[in-house]
Amino acid sequence: MTYPWGDSRRFNSYNRFLQQKFGTRVQKLTIDAGFTCPNRDGTVGTGGCTYCLNAAFNPSYCSPSKPVAQQLAEGMGFHRNRYQGDSYLAYFQAFSNTYAPLEKLKEIYRPAIENPLVKGIVVGTRPDCVDDAKLDFFEELQQRMFVSIEYGVESCREETLRRINRGHSFECAADAIRRTAARGIPCAAHFIYGLPGETPDLWLDDLEKINALPLSSIKFHQLQIIKNTAMQQDFEMNRADFHLFTQDEYIQFIVQVVERLNPAFAIERFAGSVPPRFLFASHWGLERYDVILHKIEEMMAAQDTYQGKKSEQN
Ligand code: SF4
Repeated sequence: MTYPWGDSRRFNSYNRFLQQKFGTRVQKLTIDAGFTCPNRDGTVGTGGCTYCLNAAFNPSYCSPSKPVAQQLAEGMGFHRNRYQGDSYLAYFQAFSNTYAPLEKLKEIYRPAIENPLVKGIVVGTRPDCVDDAKLDFFEELQQRMFVSIEYGVESCREETLRRINRGHSFECAADAIRRTAARGIPCAAHFIYGLPGETPDLWLDDLEKINALPLSSIKFHQLQIIKNTAMQQDFEMNRADFHLFTQDEYIQFIVQVVERLNPAFAIERFAGSVPPRFLFASHWGLERYDVILHKIEEMMAAQDTYQGKKSEQN
């Protein structure tokens, strides 16, 4: 069977989205360009989001002490052994990658923009870190190359966003997404399942709000409690407030999410994995992401379901 996104997978995959855009496989290279975060330096807040420890989320070949050009070269070398292709996306991931004056941003992105093997840039940031001048720049840049902005939204609920010290509201995120998408720039959003005070029923209800956003792609992560974070303290003091999934339970849950999800959204990730040495709780073992993905697709097949089967957008 061919689904509305044009292939036989039961979800609208980000790989298909990229394949359709570029006509070939492209590999994302993660870059740490040495940005900071307004939620750490006092501009928006201090201490950062309670779950955040950036070292836990970055591949080992990334280091802000290396110039962006060197990180790109090393990333290409790292992936060249396992990936037959020569097309890359530079993924500015660590911290808030639009948190600098526009002229400085242009300097930072330049090595990626000028590298002939880099076909586009993906910029991860906070929704309160994009103004119209920056969006104008991205709009102009996308005449020359692929540009995508990835926003950390994390939760649709204000109470949760306050408790995890995000420093912005859901409406702030929705507004940034709308302003970005209005310029024709593909927008991604990131959500975490397991934040304190929330439950699976609430997450399924929240899909109505998520489905209404003009997103091109979406990422989901289960909450993992990282050692030595404020989230660890919250967890230790208020365990009853946390719904941490086992892997089996999460797979069942995420299938329910997918069948309610807007079929126009390409799904880039269903789950996250943090190196075990960083983890305080919610360790799923060392199973690779592709094994978990296979289990999710098997579950969808067993239930004869697919992305959007139960969504209003279907
Ligand atoms: S906005 Fe991102 S980088 Fe900043 S504290 Fe939160 S998770 Fe960390």
